[in-house]
Amino acid sequence: MRINRIGVIGAGTMGSGIAALAASAGIPVVLLDIPGDPDRNGLARAGIERALKARPASFMSRERVELVEVGNTEDDLRKLADCDWVVEAIIEKLSPKQALYEKLEPVLKPSAVVSSNTSGIPMELLLEGRSEGFRKHFLGTHFFNPPRYLHLLEVIPTPETSQETLAAIEIFGRTILGKGIVRAKDVPGFVTNRIGVYGMLQTVQLMGVHKLSIDEIDTLTGPLIGRPNSATFRTADLTGLDVLSHVARELSEATGEDFALPGWVDGLVKEGRLGEKTKAGFYKKVGKEILTYDSALGEYRPQVKLKSAELTTVRALPLAQRLSAVLSLPGKYGGFMRELYARTMHYTLIHAAELAYDLASVDQALEWGFGWRMGPFKQMDAVGMERTLELFREAGLASAGPLTRPNTRFFKDGQQLSLTGEGYQVVPKVEGALELAAIKAAGPALIESKEAALLDLGDGVALFEFRGKMNTIGEGVFVILKKSLSYLDEHGYAGLVIGNGHQRVFSAGANLALILMAAQEGEWEELELAARRFQQGTQSLRSAPFPVVVAPFGLTLGGGAELTLHADAVQAHAELYMGLVEVGVGLIPAGGGTKELLFRFTRELLPYVEADSFEAVRRAFQYIAMAETSTSALEAKGKGFLRHGDGITMNRDLLIGDAKR
Ligand code: NAD
Repeated sequence: MRINRIGVIGAGTMGSGIAALAASAGIPVVLLDIPGDPDRNGLARAGIERALKARPASFMSRERVELVEVGNTEDDLRKLADCDWVVEAIIEKLSPKQALYEKLEPVLKPSAVVSSNTSGIPMELLLEGRSEGFRKHFLGTHFFNPPRYLHLLEVIPTPETSQETLAAIEIFGRTILGKGIVRAKDVPGFVTNRIGVYGMLQTVQLMGVHKLSIDEIDTLTGPLIGRPNSATFRTADLTGLDVLSHVARELSEATGEDFALPGWVDGLVKEGRLGEKTKAGFYKKVGKEILTYDSALGEYRPQVKLKSAELTTVRALPLAQRLSAVLSLPGKYGGFMRELYARTMHYTLIHAAELAYDLASVDQALEWGFGWRMGPFKQMDAVGMERTLELFREAGLASAGPLTRPNTRFFKDGQQLSLTGEGYQVVPKVEGALELAAIKAAGPALIESKEAALLDLGDGVALFEFRGKMNTIGEGVFVILKKSLSYLDEHGYAGLVIGNGHQRVFSAGANLALILMAAQEGEWEELELAARRFQQGTQSLRSAPFPVVVAPFGLTLGGGAELTLHADAVQAHAELYMGLVEVGVGLIPAGGGTKELLFRFTRELLPYVEADSFEAVRRAFQYIAMAETSTSALEAKGKGFLRHGDGITMNRDLLIGDAKR
């Protein structure tokens, strides 16, 4: 089953974001909302306007807005007749959703898939009154906000969803929309919100118990324990306190469990202090200063930076060890962290089998949806089950069922413990993904140093990866590159991919510390030589007797961009922030980037006999002088950093595999 065209109904926060994502992926979208007055399509149009203004941007390229056709649900339902998938993202209420499906059923083609973006209404209620055919093609697809940036897509099949429907949406979601798919059961909150929101609410409750401030909580629950910089309260400000309070109430009602928010948070919601969108929530920006809400005083006050010698020591440890160390902190910080850990992990253990189909997807849900570096089961493996059980006892929590024998390990030799606690099973791989960790575990690199390495990807293709801090490129990288190119030639390899598995940074560029040092010492000849070696290095990709494909993603700056510009072909991740930014430190690109832009732009003008070739010079130097950086791979193509034939991969997990293919 092919999905060539999609419909999105509801042009609010989620619907307009989903439409922008699909259009960015090149898929035509019909976006409908209820009729407006006097502009019948005004609501859908307003949704698209908001998406165009959103920061960070919802569209990967403004031009892609042309793929979105707007309309309203009274006049334009027939526009959905040739859609292969219709995503419903309207108001979170049962009866309007049911009424909408009833109207959709006679209009859609029989094979069309319909899915709901509901965060919590059970699928069986949504489907009341629908035909068998409709039910076969129906499922839940729970995107996270903002859909472009949050990797997770929870997919919730019902017992009646056909295998073909499920497979079609999972494949499309993974490869075309680039999402990480987690299959969830049809229970309140699914996997991610059920555990993530529970953890968040426990944090707010325990804050009162341990007498901690918002500043303290955000220091303790952010990067320190492998969670995003926005930690707890800044995340809530971004989500919206009204959304959080709504989700919490729904979860309380649906589960009968404790999802209560303390009164002072309800107070903020009542006063309309909803976070970022109302300019005040848990934090408030006044001019350049950020103030923090003080729940005891009931007002905002200057932020207090948390100073603690113990925390400084703990921060220096790698994450897995840090998690244990944090649980041994003295005083109220340790007390809070132990109780939070115990409650969240206990809850996860009790509910995992009810929410998910395997352990690994619980971890993926929290990693992809909430930005945790390690999901709860990986965390428990790091801390150890014996210590975890000790903390349960300390917190007065009873045994957490069959998954908690004192020597339990959830992941072992690439396998995961089954949800019954009996035996291990494989961790399903992301289809089409080349897992670098597995390749590294399987054997030594072909060539390696601290700065770079050459790995065998199989099928006669090798991978060259940078290994320095932020993947900076120093001379050592070019030494290994030269050795690698000769090695591959001698051993008859078919091709080379340049890429790596870093989370965010393909390469931050040349190692400027060395350049600065040489400049300070006045070693001009040495600097000239270094620039020449850099140029020879980038140029050597061109003269290799096999294709070199560069697979950039995220930050691809300076020297990283120059290497990319010299590839035979580029396979880029859709999220590509590429540019020649050297001017920021008072340099111009000396690794061949200046020449390459000039060359590209001049060649583009060649067919136009009357064109002024100075135009190419102007454009290249403007990019360099303004340190122009793309905000996506599509934009990088528009700017000429990528060529028309270069490929774009939506899903980061598939990038190296696509580049190899
Ligand atoms: P929203 O309020 O921003 O937008 C809802 C849109 O639907 C509005 O534009 C409204 O005019 C339109 N609408 C209402 N009734 C309609 C009808 N009968 N027909 C057509 N359009 C109608 O809501 P949202 O935050 O985008 O949420 C949409 C859905 O996604 C809900 O089911 C919500 O639970 C779910 N969800 C929201 C988030 C989030 O973070 N906001 C995350 C995941 C899932």
